[in-house]
Amino acid sequence: MKKPSGADPRKRKGLIIVNTGDGKGKSTASFGLAIRAAGNKMNVFIMQFMKGQWKAGERKSFEKLAPHVEFVAMGDGFTWDTNNIEQDKATARKAFEIAKEKLLSGKYQMVIFEEINYVLHYKFFPEEEFLETLRNKPESVHVVCSGRNASDKLIEMADLVTEMKMIKHPFKEQGIPAQKGIEF
Ligand code: ATP
Ligand code: MG
Repeated sequence: MKKPSGADPRKRKGLIIVNTGDGKGKSTASFGLAIRAAGNKMNVFIMQFMKGQWKAGERKSFEKLAPHVEFVAMGDGFTWDTNNIEQDKATARKAFEIAKEKLLSGKYQMVIFEEINYVLHYKFFPEEEFLETLRNKPESVHVVCSGRNASDKLIEMADLVTEMKMIKHPFKEQGIPAQKGIEF
């Protein structure tokens, strides 16, 4: 593709990256960026916004990448069972405040908002507040937003958007349960 005129390849710019869509690979693509960044001695902060999504495999691998990768999963997370929307909102708020502080701290070169699209889609958290935070982020920090149903406004603001499209999924077609190393 032709380079847009005026583009300066030497300029470092923090990108807003969105991984969305109904196919598999949104979270793992985000983790791939974390691995790549950590190998470059960049500091990465990951906030996992949804309970039950944080798989043991990546948790253990990220522990080995300390101190370059730091992650937090909101422990008392989203309680589907109790169906307590107020608690979900409070947890989303708490998670967001932590991630926002990390983003603005200047200590990290990449911040990953894992499953944030889900949180925004279900309005656990006001989207405008999230977008405003991205507008005010330090110029050089890369931000990754993952999850289905990315909003039009976030897509508009982003520099890099990828939609994972489901062609086949072992669970959907064959009822094959989650496999170690693939799903967790
Ligand atoms: P991964 O974490 O493997 O990168 P993902 O982040 O794209 O997947 P999520 O939407 O977070 O996927 O879904 C969580 C789980 O649901 C994952 O274990 C994933 O394999 C599974 N999954 C993803 N897409 C589908 C699908 N189309 N049908 C059934 N299960 C799916
Ligand atoms: Mg995911």
